[in-house]
Amino acid sequence: MIGVLKGMATTMKHALDGETFTVAYPDDEPEVSPRFRGVHKFSQERCIWCRQCENVCPNDTIQIVMDDKRNGEQYNLHIGQCIYCRLCEEVCPVEAIVLTQNFEFVADTKDEFALNKEELKNVPWYNDIDPVQTREPDREAWVGEGEGELDYQ
Ligand code: SF4
Ligand code: SF4
Repeated sequence: MIGVLKGMATTMKHALDGETFTVAYPDDEPEVSPRFRGVHKFSQERCIWCRQCENVCPNDTIQIVMDDKRNGEQYNLHIGQCIYCRLCEEVCPVEAIVLTQNFEFVADTKDEFALNKEELKNVPWYNDIDPVQTREPDREAWVGEGEGELDYQ
């Protein structure tokens, strides 16, 4: 009984102190943790087609297609099955993959999230993400400016 009263007292204390932990999304923008892992950005400009991201991905979210001379031809991203483990970003030697803080994307089926690099360029919610801006500040320096314009699909 004492435990129940203590629990109720704690509930009342937090209910009345005016502090809130939720926001009226989508009218209000939620604060995203700096450690949040959202949707990728891919840079064909940086990619050296080493396929390490494809090999490390635990569930085939990334598929790299090569020609017979081992030149990279296609980067397929099945965003709907990504578990946002960030292994692909960590293993990439040239920062061609960046996990942004964007979580605002919807589709009716998972298949609609299977996109190649050309298709990614035309997806508004994907195209509008600035990979450097959406990262946590301490990683901005790590990603760097690169040479010339960055081409993250
Ligand atoms: S974040 Fe993890 S699951 Fe998603 S593409 Fe990268 S390695 Fe695969
Ligand atoms: S690990 Fe990086 S450089 Fe290698 S194929 Fe993947 S995105 Fe390209």
